[in-house]
Amino acid sequence: MSTAVSDLLPLPLPEFHTLSQDQARGSTCVWDGVGLSPETAVDLGERSLRRVGGQTSWFPRACRRCALEQAMNALVAHSQECEQCVDDQNLCPEGLGLVRAVRAARR
Ligand SMILES: [Zn+2]
Ligand SMILES: [Zn+2]
Repeated sequence: MSTAVSDLLPLPLPEFHTLSQDQARGSTCVWDGVGLSPETAVDLGERSLRRVGGQTSWFPRACRRCALEQAMNALVAHSQECEQCVDDQNLCPEGLGLVRAVRAARR
């Protein structure tokens, strides 16, 4: 179950059709195209993609710098508009997911 935690990282990704083959395969960062190694890659979890003829899944990965930047931005944006997070972030699955994404990128 190595993907259990990263399955929950709710980060917005670039449009799939704008990505290179390497980015779509997860061998380079989905945001800036930097080459990834197992030590530097942050696994963003399985995403599904609608295509002609059905659905397919892909497994985007990112470098730590981009993942942290994206996670921080998403967390700030989310907490500014989420009443649940103002009230109690522990009760908001999306807020918790974003906090987890920041932690995963910092590891
Ligand atoms: Zn990157
Ligand atoms: Zn929230």
